[in-house]
Amino acid sequence: MRIVDLRSDTVTHPTPEMRRAMAEAEVGDDVYGEDPTLNRLEAMAAERLGKEAGMFVASGTMGNLVSTLTHAQRGDDIILGDKSHIFRSEAGGASALGGISFHTIPNDSRGMLDPDQVEAAIRPNDVHFPRTAMIALENTHNACGGATLTPEDTRTIAEVAHRHEIPLHIDGARIFNAAVSLETPVSELVKDAESVTFCLSKGLSVPIGSVVCGSNEFIERARRWCKMVGGSMRQVGIIAAAGIVALDSMVERMAEDHANARRLAQGLAQIPGISINPDALPTNLVFFEVERGDPAELARRINERGVKGGSPARRWRFVTHYGITAEDVDYALDVVESTFREYAPA
Ligand SMILES: *Cc1c(COP(=O)(O)O)cnc(C)c1O
Repeated sequence: MRIVDLRSDTVTHPTPEMRRAMAEAEVGDDVYGEDPTLNRLEAMAAERLGKEAGMFVASGTMGNLVSTLTHAQRGDDIILGDKSHIFRSEAGGASALGGISFHTIPNDSRGMLDPDQVEAAIRPNDVHFPRTAMIALENTHNACGGATLTPEDTRTIAEVAHRHEIPLHIDGARIFNAAVSLETPVSELVKDAESVTFCLSKGLSVPIGSVVCGSNEFIERARRWCKMVGGSMRQVGIIAAAGIVALDSMVERMAEDHANARRLAQGLAQIPGISINPDALPTNLVFFEVERGDPAELARRINERGVKGGSPARRWRFVTHYGITAEDVDYALDVVESTFREYAPA
């Protein structure tokens, strides 16, 4: 049976070129700083993002956690969006492991924060209050439809943060999708942030890993936290080799994923029982509402027919990626259309 896996861009497998690079990677013990392939990836990532230094971590969650622990101390709080991945989907790590509290303000429909609300959320210097130690943005914004923040958006929030001497962190799990969609160098998107996490393991098709970038001083302090949470590894060059291939050759092609997402969104908009706004979905995340039928049953039926995705909730997310072609999109649309016609009639 044909399988079209639309659950996430994390299901991507390493490309043949990555597997070759992994097999041939020169490696060493990274805890001694001696893995040449990893050192190359970290330098490459930092250069691409316009930062002084980079540090490989096991996941985006680990990158955000280590960044937060580096910026904030016990008792501090951080300001972030109420739909942010750090707040909703990282198991409360900063509070559980760092004693840091989350001060959320509303994300608008494109994942942006209101600068006045950010400013109002910053705690005055008073013994009663926690210290505000970090402000975080997310680009692209996962729960807000893969929406992108422009350099101007980011600067607006950075200006507030920096006026109060607070560092800005960008959860850029899919920052390269934003860069490709906006046709803007990724360094422009992150230039006003003190730290950034991006994932290699999503649309870039690397099997494992993320990179945190920032100043030399920040990364030096972050390495201790990374060690503490168990994130320093050994012959990491085996994985880093795939990351180098990704940064060299897998970034620009994500425009195809965005085109396929658009094709998918426009097709879904034609299916009775589905509510979607294709114009609000600029990258590879396709969110929509299942308005009729039992979503759990519909998801089960499309999965049985090889289209992986959907959920028991009414809000579904399909994701395009390196493993999905335009023909896969058309096949998925056929499956969804006929399933909805049968199981979600008007
Ligand atoms: C996926 C994701 C992460 C976390 O990455 P993992 O590698 O899955 O831990 C962080 N932030 C956003 C916005 C994400 O989409």
